[in-house]
Amino acid sequence: MSWLTNYVRPKIRALVQREDVPDNLWQQCPACEQMIFHRELEAALNVCTHCGHHMRLPALKRLEVLFDDGAYDRVELPRVMADPLRFRDRKRYGDRLKESRAATGNDDALIVAFGKMGGRGTVVAAFDFRFMGGSMGMAVGRGLIAAARHAVLKNAPLIAIPASGGARMQEGILSLMQMPRTVLAVDEVREAGLPFIVVLTDPTTGGVTASFAMLGDIALAEPGAVIGFAGARVIQETIREKLPQGFQRAEYLRDHGMVDRVVHRHQIRDELIRLNDLLMNPRAGQKIVPLGEPGKRRKAGKPAVADGDEQDRNEERPAAE
Ligand SMILES: [Zn+2]
Repeated sequence: MSWLTNYVRPKIRALVQREDVPDNLWQQCPACEQMIFHRELEAALNVCTHCGHHMRLPALKRLEVLFDDGAYDRVELPRVMADPLRFRDRKRYGDRLKESRAATGNDDALIVAFGKMGGRGTVVAAFDFRFMGGSMGMAVGRGLIAAARHAVLKNAPLIAIPASGGARMQEGILSLMQMPRTVLAVDEVREAGLPFIVVLTDPTTGGVTASFAMLGDIALAEPGAVIGFAGARVIQETIREKLPQGFQRAEYLRDHGMVDRVVHRHQIRDELIRLNDLLMNPRAGQKIVPLGEPGKRRKAGKPAVADGDEQDRNEERPAAE
């Protein structure tokens, strides 16, 4: 009986349930409060068609959009011990896992996929925020290690797309241990000379921010995404100071050097293809221009002819003073 109710029924429910059937055909944008027809919203990848606000996007949809023709293989992730601490708050952790599995159809909060992106084999590790807030426990940690190893094995770039509330507190210290583990995992990719790119989505917080998510060779972020370690309210109450406008938002982090680029969701695939091309063959179609000799300056727009340099420098000097 328990096997039937605990295992078979949730699986059947997950099969029968269509993904994300909207209760209502219209959805309200939390930013501009306009109503958007669900098909229109889906076609726009959950970006508000009125104000451009980026709502959350399920991991599977994200993968479908990133890979060529939406085709990819799921990388099998190693199994981990379930509920090692026999943790219980209002509910048993084991029950929470079962519920999330039934609701999302995934084993845990991380999905690792391998497929072609712009014709190049690429590994993508995407978080599913619907699975216990995308929290990082042992399964996610091992999943990221598997993703890194798969990237090295396939000589492919690794792209991580976090959407996470941080470490999974139901696994106590074991979830915190995933922070150094994931750091070492992305180090393996780096040592193999392969690109590691992160796409920070709303929200990227806690132990995920404090580990691999900030270590990308290039860090992209979606507009308006909340990216931070502790919540803004906690910080405000601790330091007793008013926080600046846009604090912990993608644009704020870009302006302060923590994020390289803020990219609209519709352009992320093209951007990743371009970055992978640049990082995998840095010389493709490019001529390396030699640096000028030290102490010599050239006028902008003039051809770099060595003979003219000395004269140019003298001409420029009075104007510069
Ligand atoms: Zn809107």
